[in-house]
Amino acid sequence: MNAATLCVMKFGGTSVGDASCIRRAAEIVKAEATLRPVVVVVSAMSGVTNRLIDAARRAETGDEESLPALVAGLRQQHSTAADELLKDHQRRKSVGDAHAAVLEELERLLRGTALLRELTPRILDTISGIGERLSAPLVAAAISELGLPSAAVSATEVIVTDGHHGRAEPLMSPTRERAEARLRPMLNSGEVPVVTGFIAATITGVQTTLGRGGSDYSATILGAALGAGETIIWTDVDGVKTADPRLVPEARTLPEISYNEAAELAYFGAKVLHPNTLRPVTAAGVPVWIRNSFEPVKPGTKITAASKSARNGVKALTAIRDVTLVTVGGPGIVGLRDVLARSFAATAAARANVLFVTQSSSQNDICFVIQTADEKRTVAALREAFAPEMEEHTVEHISADRSVAIVAAVGENMRGTPGIAGRLFSALGREGISIIAIAQGSSEYNISCVIEETAMQRAVQTLHKEFRLEDSGAN
Ligand code: ASP
Ligand code: MG
Repeated sequence: MNAATLCVMKFGGTSVGDASCIRRAAEIVKAEATLRPVVVVVSAMSGVTNRLIDAARRAETGDEESLPALVAGLRQQHSTAADELLKDHQRRKSVGDAHAAVLEELERLLRGTALLRELTPRILDTISGIGERLSAPLVAAAISELGLPSAAVSATEVIVTDGHHGRAEPLMSPTRERAEARLRPMLNSGEVPVVTGFIAATITGVQTTLGRGGSDYSATILGAALGAGETIIWTDVDGVKTADPRLVPEARTLPEISYNEAAELAYFGAKVLHPNTLRPVTAAGVPVWIRNSFEPVKPGTKITAASKSARNGVKALTAIRDVTLVTVGGPGIVGLRDVLARSFAATAAARANVLFVTQSSSQNDICFVIQTADEKRTVAALREAFAPEMEEHTVEHISADRSVAIVAAVGENMRGTPGIAGRLFSALGREGISIIAIAQGSSEYNISCVIEETAMQRAVQTLHKEFRLEDSGAN
């Protein structure tokens, strides 16, 4: 078997959202498997992970009342899909048994949480990963139903991570070994493994998760570990767009982008990919496709090391709301040489995701943008870190402004195309949109600015026109 032709295919929550979606996914797998060996990675059925996390949080408050309804709802949802998909009685029974065992475990975990009124990150990982353990056997059975041998595999047997619950990172070397040992024999015998996305385990077998939306990451980890020829992320959108179509109706699907561009877009909130998704495949050079499982005839977006050039340098725009601009400022910070280090030590300790950083050259202010969800923790951590300076008024204020948004232009060829930043700022200026802060990554794949949130849509539409992103000839 030629490893380079192996294909890893991930199906997201909506792509396995009900029986007909699962059947469509199974047909896509079957068609591909006639050409080359396929490893499937699945998300939980859409909405399931959110419900599990809600239930865990409720259990933490001691609430056991809503628990039977949750478990019954999940049982119903999965058995309805199984009944519709599986004609074979034996197959239906074995999927039903698998589901019963997983749901029983869920019930025990939630009761234990309610009893202790304590939800540790480790237990939350176990509870939130239940959805994938329910969907994988169902999808494997649906593939088998089409006459292609398939079996569910728990990623806890394959993907090895560190012990950082809630956002674990893979350890590639043991993962490679386990993937070879567990998956290769299946592939060699013509069986399609359906691996649970999102979850993984430490080297000693403690279950972890890769963070919300982490099934994409599972797929690229496996793609890299197995030396796949391609990884395909099947989702419910046509690919990576020039902008969020809810903001810009004429946004267009990009046929090809680079790993760097896709990473910038993922990082800056184009919700197509989990932000770490491209790391393993960039190192291994495995192309990634984003494709629409509801319209598999559409080509989607191909992500590779090389990207077709964009004539004017800007390829796509992203916008993020629900962000907060945090400012650490005061006349005295000029002389405080470690102020940046201490600020970021504080944000890191608060586990805030810093999206944007700028410092004015007068050095009176450091601004950075974080997700609003991280604001309270971050501001508290900063106030604590700078308490002595605040007392002496060297640092005068640590403030947080929620009324902002980030708009970013992304494109690998912005580097070496002069005048892009100028055009961007003039276009916004013409529209009367004022820019609160600017940052350009030294990679020059990205120019971002902080603006008033109320101007966000207008800003994105203006820039989309300015850089003629609706025109496929221009890119
Ligand atoms: N089911 C998980 C989530 O909703 C992982 C994923 O879908 O990628 O976050
Ligand atoms: Mg997802």
